Amino acid sequence: MAQKAENVNAMRSVNNWIGGELQDPHSDRWADVFDSATGEKCAQVVMSSEADVDAALAAAKAALPGWSRTPVLRRARVMFKLKELIERDRAEIAALITQEHGKVLHDADGSIQRGLEVVEFACGIPHLIKGDYSDQVGTGVDTYSMRQSVGVCIGITPFNFPAMVPLWMFPLAIACGNTFILKPSEKDPGCSLKWAELLAEAGLPPGVFNVVQGDHVAVNALLNDDRVAAVSFVGSTPVAEHVYKTASENGKRVQALGGAKNHLVVLPDADMDQAADALVGAGYGSAGERCMAISAIVAVGDSAEPLLEKLLPKIAALKIGPGSDNSNDMGPLITAEHRDKVRNYIDIGEEEGAALLVDGRTHEITKSSGYFLGPTLFDHASKDMRVYQEEIFGPVLTMIRVQTFDEAINLVNDHEYGNGTAIFTRDGDAAREFANGIEVGMVGINVPIPVPLAFHSFGGWKRSLFGDMSIYGPEGVRFYTRLKTVTSRWPTGIRSGADFSMPTM
Ligand code: NAD
Repeated sequence: MAQKAENVNAMRSVNNWIGGELQDPHSDRWADVFDSATGEKCAQVVMSSEADVDAALAAAKAALPGWSRTPVLRRARVMFKLKELIERDRAEIAALITQEHGKVLHDADGSIQRGLEVVEFACGIPHLIKGDYSDQVGTGVDTYSMRQSVGVCIGITPFNFPAMVPLWMFPLAIACGNTFILKPSEKDPGCSLKWAELLAEAGLPPGVFNVVQGDHVAVNALLNDDRVAAVSFVGSTPVAEHVYKTASENGKRVQALGGAKNHLVVLPDADMDQAADALVGAGYGSAGERCMAISAIVAVGDSAEPLLEKLLPKIAALKIGPGSDNSNDMGPLITAEHRDKVRNYIDIGEEEGAALLVDGRTHEITKSSGYFLGPTLFDHASKDMRVYQEEIFGPVLTMIRVQTFDEAINLVNDHEYGNGTAIFTRDGDAAREFANGIEVGMVGINVPIPVPLAFHSFGGWKRSLFGDMSIYGPEGVRFYTRLKTVTSRWPTGIRSGADFSMPTM
């Protein structure tokens, strides 16, 4: 049964959006959503059943013929309108992200901006989706190509960017003429209904965009359904592997972006002030809950001491508190469980023998009721330690000291993850060698978080991405479309009757 749309912003019950309206779920399972700065429950979200997924798939499938044949200019106009509406409601969306996720308002707003840029890119879909035309490939024969939609697409997204990561997916998928089902993170699901509401206001027909809330039950039902053509996933590596394997075995197109351990390499000639600023921002911003966060520092030669001299005071000066206070640098972690997991990694690092220079467990802020942890810094870690090997996904930086540039390159290349990395140096030759030789998908040169803009594409290497294509940008257009080529000859061109040999043009 449909509910009234006014409930969208009440944020007490986060429900499914199917066929252009909120729907009462078939499932009676619900999960709590918390305000991470206070630890108080702020909403509950439905854990959809297979019947809920079935309803969303039926709506997406029914809307597909009409939407995929809608002229591309009209599809683009929905994106132009969406851009306007997101800009209108930007402050409200940022506040929602801050409440459910915890990141500071200015950071939440920045993440909306990076998502909005994908909407802007999708506004150019008439140009992006154009095919090629070759005149007279044979006598009286022309060939042209077109990119057509793939069908029903699904997006499964993580907790750390409830606005930006869904926006990496659905604007392009929809602009390309597909219908879409979003399965957002159950930890901060509020934004998903905001997208649904804004898309409806922008004039998107019912059923083109749907939201199914929930956990692995909903995800697995989607992955195993024949009506799904393409799967975009962003989340942790074990789940990315599961999604990639299941979806590809079921014959679906799939891009599954996973976890990370991003290294920042500091050469002795680096501007240490710049490197230290980059490290505090990229290591502790958003409480380290970014897939492009820097979590490993590789200090080359004698760079460690001058770097620490700059870095330690900057860490001490970090302002930590509720994300609703825009003067804070870092907010809480997403849940109590995740905070405890990160804290446990600090215990592990100590047991492994890394030097604990800054201990986030003892920070004053940890006494408050939210899911806070202070910034943490380990030095003298070694390659075999879990605090170096594993993704912690919290405000913990781990430094490894190496003697040479080659050792630094080998260290980064030997790591199982290859999402992002950065080098800080004044040496153009070293930077160029690093960019060419490093086995990582996104590289920064004196830029700590090298997230490509919307007109490029985002994706890591190794166990940070499963599938062939990166997300958004030109690769996103290819992912959400299929190539068709047409070779044509008109009857008036057939002058000599039927031809029984293989056409050679
Ligand atoms: P997660 O893998 O726990 O969850 C991601 C999504 O998968 C959620 O929607 C969740 O409901 C669903 N899910 C969880 N367990 C599942 C299961 N067993 N079967 C099917 N579906 C399941 O990730 P998270 O904790 O929400 O997000 C943090 C992770 O995401 C980190 O590892 C981070 O590096 C990664 N991440 C990667 C990128 C990237 O671009 N590579 C971007 C953002 C986040």
